[in-house]
Amino acid sequence: MKKPDSFEEQRAKMVKEQLVARKIHDKRLLQAMMQVPRHLFVHPDHVESAYTDGPLPIGEGQTISQPYVAALMVAALGLQGHEKVLEIGTGSGYLAAVLGQLAAEVHSIEQFESLASKADQVIANLEFSNVHVHHNDGSAGLNEHAPYDGILVSAAAPKAPEALLTQLTPNGVLVIPVGDRNGQRLQRWTRDGDKFKYEESTKVSFVPLRGEFGWQRNAWPNPK
Ligand code: SAH
Repeated sequence: MKKPDSFEEQRAKMVKEQLVARKIHDKRLLQAMMQVPRHLFVHPDHVESAYTDGPLPIGEGQTISQPYVAALMVAALGLQGHEKVLEIGTGSGYLAAVLGQLAAEVHSIEQFESLASKADQVIANLEFSNVHVHHNDGSAGLNEHAPYDGILVSAAAPKAPEALLTQLTPNGVLVIPVGDRNGQRLQRWTRDGDKFKYEESTKVSFVPLRGEFGWQRNAWPNPK
């Protein structure tokens, strides 16, 4: 996948100033974020801002996450390379591509057909053969490819859906932002047999998870 491009310098700066400076030290993760061409995943109007320290609009009222928040979430999965991972909320496909560099098999599911097909196209052009994009409500996971060593939810949920916990392998990890429109905290769930426990960390700000186990529109309306 790795071809030199004119954004290499910006990517290196992003990795150094936004990730390493904030204590992201996982070498494989830093390398993946150095390699994945984030500018190909953003809207053409935002290509010049692709490596800035914040989220960007990607259409359908959705956003590609800030690089640092994306890195924090992936780091919490602690991937070694052999894992099967599910991402809920493909959006632009950027994070799915990063996960594709770090795990053996990645499934990513998106509620909007338009975003799913765009992401699928970019990922195919980059020849990531281990990343599979699906179009559906992912709030109940994706049973057909379960169990997963890691599940990462890229949208804010009212609580960690039980269906996701039960799709984890016995030692699997779920990373999910939990909270409402005023803000959320990242939860890292681990499974030990039939028992589940979680730790809460950084405050974050995501778009809402919709669907069966997400936020309903009366509780979290669309922005005007
Ligand atoms: N990780 C993405 C950013 C995701 S933004 C990236 O790298 O670009 C959150 C995404 O979650 C949005 O695209 C939104 O449409 C999607 N989403 C929200 N609820 C969902 C659901 N129930 N099932 C699938 N996707 C959902």
